[in-house]
Amino acid sequence: MKIRTRFAPSPTGLLHIGNARAALFNYLFARHHCGEFVLRIEDTDRERSTQQAVDVIFEGLKWMGLDWDGEPTFQASRQDRHAEVVAQLMEKGMAYRCYCTAEELAAMREKARAEKRPPRYDGTWRDRDPADAPEGVPYAIRLKAPKEGETIIKDLVQGEVRVANAEMDDLILLRSDGTPTYLLAVVVDDHDMDITHVMRGDDHLTNTFRQAMIYRAMGWDLPKFAHLPLIHGPDGAKLSKRHGAQSVVEFREEGILPEALCNYLLRLGWGHGDAEILDREEQIKLFDIDGIGRSPSRMDYVKLSHLNGIWMRRANDERLTALVMQRLAQRDDLNHDETVRARVLALMPGLKERAKTVVELADNAAFAGLRLPLTLTPKAEKHLGEEGKKVLAGLETRLAALEPFTPEGIDSTLRAFATEHELKLGAVAQPLRAAMTGTTTSPGIDLTLAALGREEVLARIRSALSA
Ligand code: GLU
Repeated sequence: MKIRTRFAPSPTGLLHIGNARAALFNYLFARHHCGEFVLRIEDTDRERSTQQAVDVIFEGLKWMGLDWDGEPTFQASRQDRHAEVVAQLMEKGMAYRCYCTAEELAAMREKARAEKRPPRYDGTWRDRDPADAPEGVPYAIRLKAPKEGETIIKDLVQGEVRVANAEMDDLILLRSDGTPTYLLAVVVDDHDMDITHVMRGDDHLTNTFRQAMIYRAMGWDLPKFAHLPLIHGPDGAKLSKRHGAQSVVEFREEGILPEALCNYLLRLGWGHGDAEILDREEQIKLFDIDGIGRSPSRMDYVKLSHLNGIWMRRANDERLTALVMQRLAQRDDLNHDETVRARVLALMPGLKERAKTVVELADNAAFAGLRLPLTLTPKAEKHLGEEGKKVLAGLETRLAALEPFTPEGIDSTLRAFATEHELKLGAVAQPLRAAMTGTTTSPGIDLTLAALGREEVLARIRSALSA
């Protein structure tokens, strides 16, 4: 049997990381078994579904490198098929028309609440003679759910979970306006799409009991279910805005690389021995459902940025430079032409050693595009007092004459200058750094000067001297 998994998001907002993790797990499971991973956009809620949210899903999945097989399915386009299944259930006597009005249903709920019972449909129309049907009143179609016994799900993560059928009411399959409910549509689509494994958040577990009833009523085999514990905030509460980023786009904005986010989301709630840093190939090789933990995970933003730092150091310099340049391009206080790009690229080996996010990387690289005169931080200003300026003036002629203008040559020049003037290397490097960056931090001073190039270095020295 070919394994087929799916990701079935509702396009009603952002791509939440809980959903992104479900997508990742479904993708890895399918790829591990040389199966297929398909995408279904659950857009049956026409009012809340937007094209923008659909695009966010497509882009988010592509960014994470989760390529799906075939064309995506749009659930709303399958309404006729959903209605057809309901007609079959009616024929089998497994569904019935319910003529209750909204007011009657509200009264039913109210009564249940007053009697301290859970608000369930009381079965008014379940066994009533269809001849009693009021004329011209719209009706919903409900499943004739079993009243006795239990519904048991052998969940691959949660183990065996069961609920007494008496606890569940007759769910609506088709609303009175003829539209299918989510519970019905998911079952019909998963069945028709030959989905073998449904992996989704455990907030869907109660839906699964109800969906199982629809499968059984149709005489269809159930897929295997794996309900994933949710991702909570660092404090154990429901993950919310106040904790930090929650959606894929937000993490991207905060400068997280997709491979770091995927690696983090995988390790959050799934384990394989001590394996911590896993690339896609290893993820596919090692992923299994057995490794998924049962308890909720806590989002650890510090750990994520640590992991991101590791992935940045592994990332290609050209790619990181492109990401940095995209960010610098948004600043109008900087130049961001080809010369600046070449400087950033040359600085990248040093820059990526220190930064944990692309945002930090861009902040640390920004000096490459600064226009003169630089604005100095108070600390940098201290290095450009009388002593500092003397150093700069002395270095100006030497650097002007240095040939070739390489990190090695620069390093020897600075060392020789320090020795001759009985200065510590720092006393030479710091005024230079202040003059080059306006701050007191940068990659190694030799790399910094080499990346800026002789002409720019001399211009920045002169500008500092004339300030
Ligand atoms: N569309 C549902 C959601 O976004 C998921 C349905 C499912 O995975 O079965 O929550």
